[in-house]
Amino acid sequence: MDLTFSETEAAFRAECRTWLEANGPRPALPSGDTAEGFALHREWERLLFDSRWAVVSWPREYGGREASLWEWLIFEEEYARAGAPQRVTQNGIFLLAPTIFEFGTPEQRDRILPKMASGEEAWCQGWSEPNAGSDLAGIQARAIRDDAAGGWRLRGQKTWTTRGAFCDRLFGLFRTDPDAPRHQGLTYLLVDLRADGVTVRPVERLDGDDGFAEVFFDDAFVPDHDVLGDVGRGWNVAMATTGSERGLTLRAPGRFMAAADRLIELARRISAQSDADPLLLDRVTRAWMDAQAYRWQTFWTVTRLSDGAPAGAESSLVKLFWSELDVRLHETALALLGPHAELLDGDFASWLKGYQFSLSGPIYAGTNEIQRNVVAERVLGLPRK
Ligand SMILES: Cc1cc2nc3c(=O)[nH]c(=O)nc-3n(C[C@H](O)[C@H](O)[C@H](O)COP(=O)(O)OP(=O)(O)OC[C@H]3O[C@@H](n4cnc5c(N)ncnc54)[C@H](O)[C@@H]3O)c2cc1C
Repeated sequence: MDLTFSETEAAFRAECRTWLEANGPRPALPSGDTAEGFALHREWERLLFDSRWAVVSWPREYGGREASLWEWLIFEEEYARAGAPQRVTQNGIFLLAPTIFEFGTPEQRDRILPKMASGEEAWCQGWSEPNAGSDLAGIQARAIRDDAAGGWRLRGQKTWTTRGAFCDRLFGLFRTDPDAPRHQGLTYLLVDLRADGVTVRPVERLDGDDGFAEVFFDDAFVPDHDVLGDVGRGWNVAMATTGSERGLTLRAPGRFMAAADRLIELARRISAQSDADPLLLDRVTRAWMDAQAYRWQTFWTVTRLSDGAPAGAESSLVKLFWSELDVRLHETALALLGPHAELLDGDFASWLKGYQFSLSGPIYAGTNEIQRNVVAERVLGLPRK
């Protein structure tokens, strides 16, 4: 593998860095998982879009730069390095968009993608239900045919919908044929959260933000042009989305590299004041090495993907690695901070919030227990029982 970047890529990196340094909001925006913070993040997304930085890898006609996978990774590294805001559009641009590029009609692409990229329409993900999490095929929310209206009527409930309280639209799986086998009879629908018959109820998270919502459907209408892929084939469409979530697109290594660099700064600062525990400093080094290892591993994946290989079940290995790395990295920061780690304001407060969020990494995007099952069966070829 050639690990040097080309001159064009270096120039692209310089362009990203200059723009982000000049335009990144200072001070940092409040959490995008609050109503106030979400509105400010949406404005930031608009600025990114107007400057064609919102969706760098997309085709130009939808606001992108047709950046290569390598350039996209460079953008993500620079974005994290600059400490730029969290992407509240991420469920749309990183998860739904690749699925629309693969399964959507030209009409759906033209109608949905520009508004998604500009942040005008924010999307949330509606898979989980009270009785369907790891066992996603257990979905019970129904979509009932309404021929007269030319679409579907939704009944049932979704839960743990990230930023559902602030988003405009939801993509999710609904049961269109209750008599079909569990993985069949599901259809991928694009739902307007402002439609009659939709009730969105915020759910407070561990860190106090309204980061989740429960969404209730009471005969809410979805027109036929908002079915993604074929009716009854939603499971296959959804698998493309979950592959994106576990694999490359949601967890580019830049984020962990930036966090590891901040951890080193923290260790330097604390060591300057008093003798830091050498075992703790070992953990700092380890976190930095793991972030580097993840970066090289991602380069390997990008090389394979650029050569046309599919992402495949290896995305489960990647998910295990970044989620556990994130927890270790934040645990190390809290250990370095000692009692200061518990302060909710001031210089160090972001570590506690980061730690609380890192704890969710082994749960969302498919729990790590489920990923280990996938690795055992589909990567290592071990027997199911
Ligand atoms: C921060 C965060 C954001 C989220 N955002 C969204 C979102 O936007 N949209 C959405 O739809 N959902 C979202 N979720 C929900 C998430 O997808 C589910 O929590 C997850 O899939 C697990 O489902 P569950 O909570 O129902 O747990 P369960 O499936 O009930 O699992 C409970 C425990 O049993 C274990 N377990 C279950 N089955 C097996 C098995 N076969 N083998 C071994 N162990 C097993 C699990 O690993 C887990 O530890 C989010 C969750 C979090 C934490």
